[in-house]
Amino acid sequence: YEDRLDLEALVRAIPNYPKPGILFRDITTLIEHPQGLRVTIERMAEAVREHSFTHVAGIEARGFIFGTGVAMALGLGFVPVRKKGKLPGQTIGQNYALEYGVDTIEIHDDVLDASHNVLLVDDLVATGGTAIAAVNLIRRTGATIDKASFVIDLPDIGGAEKLRDNGVDVHAVLT
Ligand code: 5GP
Repeated sequence: YEDRLDLEALVRAIPNYPKPGILFRDITTLIEHPQGLRVTIERMAEAVREHSFTHVAGIEARGFIFGTGVAMALGLGFVPVRKKGKLPGQTIGQNYALEYGVDTIEIHDDVLDASHNVLLVDDLVATGGTAIAAVNLIRRTGATIDKASFVIDLPDIGGAEKLRDNGVDVHAVLT
């Protein structure tokens, strides 16, 4: 049954959120399902099991839900990539462009170095702007990051292709 669980049917599409004209893919219905969360995480972990990662980095906030699960499934530590001002220790930050304005993501400056190999996790890749900012931030520590895992890829928007152009192999459970 779980092998055949239709995860796509558990994702709800909400029109005009957060703005008119946007069709938002809502993953709360997926994670509220009794098997949806676990099966999604198992599929994400299975796709990368052959690789030798040292950490999973998850992007705030929905990347924490899936990234934590993938880290547990692979027996790895979890690195939170947070919005500006949320981490208590010394941080390094990376700006990235939004449709209007800029945002900043941060990690602690003492968690990663050149001996580490990081898997990036988030719920969804659209333009790729968020994920590429996370890749650039993590690369500045010297760590290797050449693989990213998402629950959902929206390929028409082109973010996964941009990640691949930046040397990051992309896996998504749903396309
Ligand atoms: P991007 O930077 O690739 O354009 O957007 C991806 C980021 O925005 C991710 O962190 C993701 O959580 C969020 N995001 C953008 N669109 C959606 C959507 O339709 N559904 C969900 N769940 N997240 C989205």
